[in-house]
Amino acid sequence: MFIGHFAVGFGAKKLAPRVSLGTLILAVEFVDFLFPLFVLLGLEALRVDPGNTKVVPFDFFRYPFTHSLATGIGWGLLLGLAYFALRRNGRGATVVGLAVVSHWVLDWITHRPDMPLWPGGPKVGLGLWNSVAGTVAVEGAMFVLGVALYLTVTRARDRIGTWALWTLVGFLVLLYAMNIASPPPTNVENFAWVGLAGWLFVPWGYWIDRHREVRGTPT
Ligand SMILES: [Zn+2]
Repeated sequence: MFIGHFAVGFGAKKLAPRVSLGTLILAVEFVDFLFPLFVLLGLEALRVDPGNTKVVPFDFFRYPFTHSLATGIGWGLLLGLAYFALRRNGRGATVVGLAVVSHWVLDWITHRPDMPLWPGGPKVGLGLWNSVAGTVAVEGAMFVLGVALYLTVTRARDRIGTWALWTLVGFLVLLYAMNIASPPPTNVENFAWVGLAGWLFVPWGYWIDRHREVRGTPT
């Protein structure tokens, strides 16, 4: 799943309005941000495999640290506790932790059974990626809902608050369409280097959030 994770990040603002969108993006995509790093370090691996599922031409044959349920919960605890240590916001910390774990749940729905329950444990996956239409319908609906929720909770403080947000929304949709339509990459190392650029969505989220305010708070 791709924009479905971002949908959760946007929508989570409703549950914890004081948490920045940048932090929420970091949380929902945390394990996918680590994955290319771990691939380049040789800790995890994937191979190009056209037809592995209809949507994604990769075989994720070894990613026990980023994409097992047990380590997912561990990353959630780590980020939640780190957030609490920095901000002393229990509600925010809980939402951050759950947002990290939501990644595994959504990937479990989309991936074929390649998601380990724990490192070396049995692999599960419901395989939504076997249907392009199903994937786009589910993720598209989630994304619209998530952005709509974010808009009900925040409003732009200035022009940047509007444009930085809509540029991100447009860019994510474009990237998603390109991912689905483009031919498989020739090697996974390039894929991993490009994947590292995903970290840039975090400062982008902070930038947006700094130019928006939570509705109903006095200015
Ligand atoms: Zn993932």
